[in-house]
Amino acid sequence: MNAQKRRLIFERLRAANPNPRSELDYRTPFELLVAVVLSAQATDKGVNKATEKLFPVANTPQAFVKLGVDRLIPYISSIGLFNMKAKNVVALSQRLVDEHGGEVPRDRDALEKLPGVGRKSANVVLNVAFGEPTIAVDTHVFRVANRTKLAVGKDPEAVERQLLKVTPDEFRLNAHHWLILHGRYVCIARVPRCPECVIADLCEYKAKTRALPGVDARALPLSPPAVPRKRA
Ligand code: SF4
Repeated sequence: MNAQKRRLIFERLRAANPNPRSELDYRTPFELLVAVVLSAQATDKGVNKATEKLFPVANTPQAFVKLGVDRLIPYISSIGLFNMKAKNVVALSQRLVDEHGGEVPRDRDALEKLPGVGRKSANVVLNVAFGEPTIAVDTHVFRVANRTKLAVGKDPEAVERQLLKVTPDEFRLNAHHWLILHGRYVCIARVPRCPECVIADLCEYKAKTRALPGVDARALPLSPPAVPRKRA
């Protein structure tokens, strides 16, 4: 894919959603970090449902250490892998208290050393909480980047490297959001919604889907919720 097409793709995604936001609810970098750790192999909606009850009870590292694993579990038991996630959240809270004065570090290496935090999660926190132009590659971003040929790579790190290389500076900060939302709502895994896709003429995927006879594509929901669901 050439640079002009890439630019046009981001221009169209930006025009469709000028101010994209994370779909995780959070108020502080620490709440975001916890939500991101809980969101591995789970939906944002499911995580928000759990944190809506959890954060009023505990939303600082100190409070999570005090809460402990056993009392945390009931709040997150609706989320997959909750036992392991509960241990990780309490352990990372302890480490933030011990090594970072109870603050979330704005530093990739320090973030990746926290239990349950990998490269993708660190990228999300750096981008969403601190405004760093990182590009987190999750399953949606990986699929969209490879399908469209925007950035081809055989693993998430390769796609991330390629995206960082080819994404024009002005789109870097929001690239992750645009691609993840596009993958979540339009370029979905099983059957991409090509007839309704705003970048269909630019995308280089060879097996694009066609409109179904009798289905008005315009009647189908395409976008994420218009209002960011960040908690007040
Ligand atoms: S045209 Fe289809 S495959 Fe290409 S980005 Fe759009 S939905 Fe995905």
